[in-house]
Amino acid sequence: MLNRIFNCASTPSAVPQIEQAKLLYSGLPLIIVINALLALTLAGVQSAVIAPAIVFGWLAAIGAILLVRVVLLAAWRHGAQTVNHAPCWMRRFRITTIATGVAWGTGAALLFPQGDETHQLFLAFVMAGLSAGAITSLAIDRISTLGFLVPTLLPLIANFALEGNKVSFAMGAMIVLFLLFIVVNAMRAGRSLHENIRLRIQAVEQEQVLRDSEARLNQAQHSAHIGNWELDLAGNTLHWSDEVFRIFEIDKTAFAASYEAFLNAIHPDDRDMVNKAYTDSLEKRLPYDIVHRLQFADGRIKFVHERCETHFDAQGKAIRSLGTIQDITSRKVLEKKIQEQRKEMEVLQRTQIAIHTASAIAHEVNQPLLAIATYCNAALLLLKNENPNLKKIGTAVESSERQALRAGQSIRELINFLNTREFPTEELELNNEITGILAAARAEHELQFQSYLQLEDGLPPIRANRLHVRKVLFNLLHNSLDAMQDAGVPLAAITITVRTMADKNVAQVSIRDNGPGFGDEDIQRLFEPFFTTKTNGIGMGLTISRSLVEANGGQLWVDPQESPGATFHLTLPFA
Ligand code: ADP
Repeated sequence: MLNRIFNCASTPSAVPQIEQAKLLYSGLPLIIVINALLALTLAGVQSAVIAPAIVFGWLAAIGAILLVRVVLLAAWRHGAQTVNHAPCWMRRFRITTIATGVAWGTGAALLFPQGDETHQLFLAFVMAGLSAGAITSLAIDRISTLGFLVPTLLPLIANFALEGNKVSFAMGAMIVLFLLFIVVNAMRAGRSLHENIRLRIQAVEQEQVLRDSEARLNQAQHSAHIGNWELDLAGNTLHWSDEVFRIFEIDKTAFAASYEAFLNAIHPDDRDMVNKAYTDSLEKRLPYDIVHRLQFADGRIKFVHERCETHFDAQGKAIRSLGTIQDITSRKVLEKKIQEQRKEMEVLQRTQIAIHTASAIAHEVNQPLLAIATYCNAALLLLKNENPNLKKIGTAVESSERQALRAGQSIRELINFLNTREFPTEELELNNEITGILAAARAEHELQFQSYLQLEDGLPPIRANRLHVRKVLFNLLHNSLDAMQDAGVPLAAITITVRTMADKNVAQVSIRDNGPGFGDEDIQRLFEPFFTTKTNGIGMGLTISRSLVEANGGQLWVDPQESPGATFHLTLPFA
């Protein structure tokens, strides 16, 4: 039992118990002092009518109990006053309180002078005062209150009742009534104290919740670099959140939020604009949203994004302005970088386009120029004859002229295409175009070759630009012929297949040769501008061909699987 009473092992406890304990122990010094004084007074007065041995014996007993309470008080002050220890402290307090009550009750029994009404009255008076005082100091704990009052007053009531005369009986009854009255009052005071403590705890908890949520908001504002401010126009008070102080780099503990501090931080060139945005928003009663700069003493600049909304009363008077301010400096710096890079890219792109255009033109005039040079060379040789064959010379000159015109036409078309990317389209019979181009290639290229046509009967017409289609087909055929010629293929052959890809509503043309094909590395680079393996090549043919096919709504690709030789596929949309 004693172990249970004095052992402070932690046991779960309700929060109010620690509050109860705090309240009870805080009143304990006064309880001890009052008890000691009353005991001394009572002993002094009653010693005149009661045997001194009884009086001093009682005084020693009550003194011992009060000493225990002094020790308990000292232990409380130095001990752990935690929630877990509260039941233990409460138990100790209650036991010493009940012991004190029992001691006073014993006093009431021992110090009650039979037949001496004056001293009886004095005893009753002391007990009544003691009990009334107990309510105020013990009301928070019902057990302590009853544990003190009942043993204190019951012996006194019994003594008066046993005295046998009317007055003493009435005194006993009066003390019973007094006991009931103070017990009821003690209960009521206890309830209101409990309620007070509960409300206080609730308020503390709410304050904590508020503090926590403020801390969370602060944290969130810090992470997002957003602060908020509130201007109470009626009371002329300005509130800044911690983040606003951080953005403005103002020490919160040294300076208060002020409009002057705000204006000072704004970049001089932006001050009017910011001020105007606010005054305009008051005038127009509209929220505003601006980006401006802050400038610091060391010259640093920050960019901030401000939003503000003002609330007005029924008469249209501005009451409060609420705003947010976000530090967007890092975003701005990044944007400036994303812009600089874009400019660099644009320059690069323009250079690339210029190079591509120049190369494309070179590619377009290369063939005709070569042909012109060959014809001119032939004409010169003919002229060196004693009897120059004027007819042949005429043919060579005419052919040169045709090639020159063709080159001019090609350049015009190309420039037109590159400039506008718009070109006329028409319905084309793909089979006819293929046979025509095959014939032209055969006429122009010196390589003799076999051709195999696998055309689809009744192929629907396609819609594309005739010149583009011819250019692409011609280019592909030329490449095949060049490759087969360079490799010295004994029996050069080209197979052209045309078929419908109904699911995609396109016609697919496949051109296959029996030349050397490509190495694994080359195949990756075929469509790269300037990739060429030819001595006089420019490496733009496939690049241009692909962009022409794509401009006409089709696709051009190389078949990595088909071998030996090379196979290219292209699609063009049906009309
Ligand atoms: P160019 O004809 O000026 O070289 P192209 O872009 O038309 O430019 O061709 C690029 C390269 O692709 C050629 O140099 C050649 O190496 C390769 N090539 C294209 N077609 C074939 C083919 N049918 N067989 C083998 N190699 C080819």
